[in-house]
Amino acid sequence: MNTPAAQDSPEAAAREAGALLAEAEKLYYTQPAQTLRLADEALALSAALPMATLATARRVRGLGLSFLGRHAEALDELQAARGLVPAGELLLECQVLRALSIACDEAGVLDAALDWGTQAAAVARTLADPLQLAGTLLSIGVVLSKGGDPEAGLVQYREALALYERAGDPARSVHVLNNMGINCKNLGRHEEALQHLQHAIEIDGRQPAPGGAQVIARLNTVEPLLALARRDEARAALAEVVPRAQAVGYPNAECFALVLQGELLAADGDDAGACRSLERAVAIALERGSRQHVARAHKALWGLHKAAGRYEAALRHHEALHEAERAQFNEESDRKLRALQVQYDLARARHDAAMARLESARLAEQTRTDPLTGVANRRQLDERLRDEYARAARHGHALAVAMIDIDDFKRINDRHGHAAGDAVLREIATLLRAHCRDIDLVARYGGEEFCVVFVEASAKDALRACEAMRAAVEAHDWPAVAADLQRVTLSMGLAEREEADGRQALLAAADARLYEAKRNGKNRVVPELQATA
Ligand code: GH3
Ligand code: MG
Ligand code: MG
Repeated sequence: MNTPAAQDSPEAAAREAGALLAEAEKLYYTQPAQTLRLADEALALSAALPMATLATARRVRGLGLSFLGRHAEALDELQAARGLVPAGELLLECQVLRALSIACDEAGVLDAALDWGTQAAAVARTLADPLQLAGTLLSIGVVLSKGGDPEAGLVQYREALALYERAGDPARSVHVLNNMGINCKNLGRHEEALQHLQHAIEIDGRQPAPGGAQVIARLNTVEPLLALARRDEARAALAEVVPRAQAVGYPNAECFALVLQGELLAADGDDAGACRSLERAVAIALERGSRQHVARAHKALWGLHKAAGRYEAALRHHEALHEAERAQFNEESDRKLRALQVQYDLARARHDAAMARLESARLAEQTRTDPLTGVANRRQLDERLRDEYARAARHGHALAVAMIDIDDFKRINDRHGHAAGDAVLREIATLLRAHCRDIDLVARYGGEEFCVVFVEASAKDALRACEAMRAAVEAHDWPAVAADLQRVTLSMGLAEREEADGRQALLAAADARLYEAKRNGKNRVVPELQATA
């Protein structure tokens, strides 16, 4: 799909990527592999896609990975997407946060799902986009309900419902009302459950949405009706739902309807009818891989066969019941294990990334520091001086540079040994640092030469600092550094930016003055060229 247009212009590539991603996003729930393929195709279109498009591509990719069960990769991808969201792109940010919440939910890490969802909602609230906010609240409600807090789930659902109703979105309103009905039922508030479900049925009756939301709502009324001993209404609801459940296309719903019908017929004493419904429920569950209600069907069948003295069949269903319960238990513990694994993988990935950052920071630092003295090396000096010179020139700031050379250092080495020479170099580096400000840079320029960059310092201030450095070295307790070492002195040449054309010229001017200081007897600072004798 790499059309010539996409190769020709970045705008065309961005447009084409956008179209691919819109398509990919629709499929992540049902065809995640296809979502992944389309997102990769979009990313391959151009190396120069806009940041927002890149963020969307990685978000959609992350959703695909999540629904393929590749949870740790999905979460990494979504974190990367988050890093790509341009500042101020709140809708994009909200979408990425929602995707993180969805992926954590899929991975079974419910507390993280809740956390991301809450952040997404906070961003959504700043957007004038009620549908975005409602969708986020709905997701949070689902996570809370799954996590065993239907009461908190209801709070989210209520707000989402108000937003959907105000925006005139009947299909989603019905979906939320169904969820509210289920939560109320699970809380034992059957009257309230019926009110929500009735409301859903009314809305859908006015404008039926595809997906059979009304049938689901009717089905959901059965248990509350039974709990309220309104058996005739429950029976009527089932009589309506069972023939329509197949058309809904959710095997869970179909299976559930048949299980409820079987239980009701059993309670009515219709042994044959009950068995028929329940056997069909089991068959559907097996055929279509829907396990949610199968244990309940086997349990009812076991009871029916036992009561009728059909012990062989009773035993068969008793075993099947245990098998189904064990499978459910295994699924549950698998989910918990997977959640732990994902959390572990994430923690390890974060740890590895942090270590890698530390290591590269350490290496970067190593390439910029002189190992003997710990001050900046020549490379760091070049970089800093280039930056500081440009900055000073741009803003008209003062900048001064001192070139420093240890006097008669060869003799120190010769008389006291190379190790003592090294100790002197270290000591001098420390003294130089101690006599300038943190923003100034002390660097080892070469062998026994140093360079100090005085940032935003006038020539007068720099000269004062140089004098202090020179005096400190002269007065230092050198015998404490090496026995019999009486005296170490420095010569310095100082130059300021205003008198030089470029940083190389600045260094050259300082160097020329250093040479002048040597010629004039060492142990001195030369701030400007003195008339040569
Ligand atoms: P001047 O006063 O004219 O600067 O004389 P000098 O002896 O200091 O100058 P010269 O350039 O002749 O000698 C510099 C010496 O510094 C020579 C070299 O062996 C020594 N040197 C350079 N790097 C190191 C180092 O890392 N450690 C030690 N101990 N000595 C070093
Ligand atoms: Mg030298
Ligand atoms: Mg020297």
